[in-house]
Amino acid sequence: MITRDEVQNARRRAAEMIRAAGICISDPEADGIEVVDFGLSRLAEEGVQVLTLVQTERISVKVLALFPHQTEPEHWHPPVGSDPGKEETVRVIAGTVYFYLPGENTFAQGFLVKGKEHCYTMRHELVMRPGDQITLAPGVKHWFQARAQGAVMYSFSTIARDAMDQFTDRQIVRITKVQD
Ligand code: ZN
Repeated sequence: MITRDEVQNARRRAAEMIRAAGICISDPEADGIEVVDFGLSRLAEEGVQVLTLVQTERISVKVLALFPHQTEPEHWHPPVGSDPGKEETVRVIAGTVYFYLPGENTFAQGFLVKGKEHCYTMRHELVMRPGDQITLAPGVKHWFQARAQGAVMYSFSTIARDAMDQFTDRQIVRITKVQD
């Protein structure tokens, strides 16, 4: 749960970061940025800000903004009906992002969210900078974290069904509740 003020604040900060990264967005788009706290009520530590640019029955294009040291919790995109699940390409536009995937444990530069270590099981670390991108097959577990300057990324994917995403942290609720 987050307050209306927190949402407004986070939207404004995210819009500033996105524009500073050179991505032109309209004011209505800025007002439509989704502020996601994953139901954990600690947006600064675990959360993400999402602007959806395209969402059709087949594809989706989003801009993701992470505040300094903010972490997007570990998750994967499961099959839904006849769809094998979301295939996603994440491309960094601004800032440095630590990206974690299945594979050899090379964890070195990021940090595990305190008290939530068991919810971050992927420890293969990629350090991604502007111009770097990665394509994730459906079902691949991943999580990512911004460094001190925050980060702006594009996410290009097959249709996003965010409400169906699966998280390692069982406390997570994908759809954020806003308190008036
Ligand atoms: Zn994802």
